[in-house]
Amino acid sequence: MRYLQDMTFSDVAKLIKEMGQPAYRAVQLYKWIAQGALYSEMTNVPNSLIESLVGEGYGDCPIKILDTFTSKIDGTIKLLYALGDGNIIEGVLMKYKYGNTLCVSTQVGCRMNCAFCASGLDGLVRNLSCGEIIGQIIAVNKLFGNGRSVTNVVLMGSGEPLDNYDNTVKFLTAVSEDEGLNISKRNISLSTCGLCDKIYKLCDDGYSPTLTISLHAPSDDIRAKIMPVAHRYPIGEVIDAAKYYFNATGRRVIFEYSLIDGVNDSKDCALELVKITKGMSCHINLIRLNSVKERGLKGTSDIKVKAFLKVLTDKGVSATIRRTLGSDIDGACGQLRRRYISEGGNV
Ligand code: SAH
Repeated sequence: MRYLQDMTFSDVAKLIKEMGQPAYRAVQLYKWIAQGALYSEMTNVPNSLIESLVGEGYGDCPIKILDTFTSKIDGTIKLLYALGDGNIIEGVLMKYKYGNTLCVSTQVGCRMNCAFCASGLDGLVRNLSCGEIIGQIIAVNKLFGNGRSVTNVVLMGSGEPLDNYDNTVKFLTAVSEDEGLNISKRNISLSTCGLCDKIYKLCDDGYSPTLTISLHAPSDDIRAKIMPVAHRYPIGEVIDAAKYYFNATGRRVIFEYSLIDGVNDSKDCALELVKITKGMSCHINLIRLNSVKERGLKGTSDIKVKAFLKVLTDKGVSATIRRTLGSDIDGACGQLRRRYISEGGNV
C-alpha cells in the first residue's frame, strides 16, 4: 500500500498534476492528511479524485494508535501504535512549558544493540516509512486535539534515524511543509548513536535539525563496552563530525550521556568528557540510566549524577540533568512494546 503521508508536498503536487487535476487539489489533500482525515472525511475533495487515488493504491492511514497510558505523576502519555503489517511501535508525549514534545520512532527494533537499550533486544525488524514516522504525529494531534497538539519532535523512540536515512530525511522535509504540519525545523531534534558518515551527509544534503549525539562515554574503551557502533566510529571521529555539523549549520550539538552505575560515572570520566568537548559549542544532557530488565545495568545514584554534573559545570561546560518523565508508566524506551507483545496484547 502507498500513502500520501509518504510524500513531500511537491511529490503530491506532481501526482495531482499527472492525474489531470487542478493544483489546488494537492493543497486540499495535503492539509487533510496532516489533520489525520480519512478519505470519507475530506468533504471538499470530489469522490472521483478519491476513487482514482484508491485505484492507484493510495491508502489514507498508515498507522493507528492502539493504546495510551497516562502518568499520574506528570501527565506524560505513553502511546502504542499499530502499523499496517501488525508490527507495534511506541512513543511518548511530554508536556513542557514551551509546548508538547512527541518522541517518535524511526524503526521497528534497532540494529545498533547498545548494551543499555531495550529497542535493540530483538535486532532490527524493519525501517519505518516516512508516512509511518509522520503518521505518529498526525495520529497524536487527531486524538488529543487542541491544547496538546505536537509542537516539538524528537527522533528518540526506537530505532537509529540515520540507519533509515532516506525515510528520515523525507520526514524532515514533510514535517515542516507549509501546507502540512508546518512544524519549524528548529523544533525537530534528531538523535543518533554517531553514524559519522551519515552526519556529514545530512549536513551536506542541506538538513539542519538539532543534532543530538548519544555519546555515553568519554573514551573508546568504555564506549565500545556499551555501544558496538564505537568499533566502527571512534570517539575522535564522532567529535569531528559534531564540529563539522556545528560549523555548517550554526546549530549547537547536544551530547546525550546516560549515567550507568560503575561504568561511565566516575570523576575521571567527567574530567575526560570536559577534555574531549573543550572549545566546542555544545551542550551535555545527563540522564540517569533507566534500568532495562533484560540488560542488567543500573542507573547511577542521584547524588553521583549531581556530582558528575558539578565537575562539568565547574569546568565551564554547558550541561544539565534531564528530568525523568513518566516513570510510573515504564520510562525505558522499548519496554512497553516488548511487554505488550510478550503478554499477548495485555499490558
Ligand atoms: N538511535 C538513536 C535514538 C535512540 S533513543 C540514538 O542512539 O541516539 C534516544 C536516547 O535514549 C539515546 O541517547 C539512547 O542512548 C538513550 N537510551 C536508550 N536506552 C536508555 C536507557 N535505558 N536509559 C537511558 N537512556 C537510554
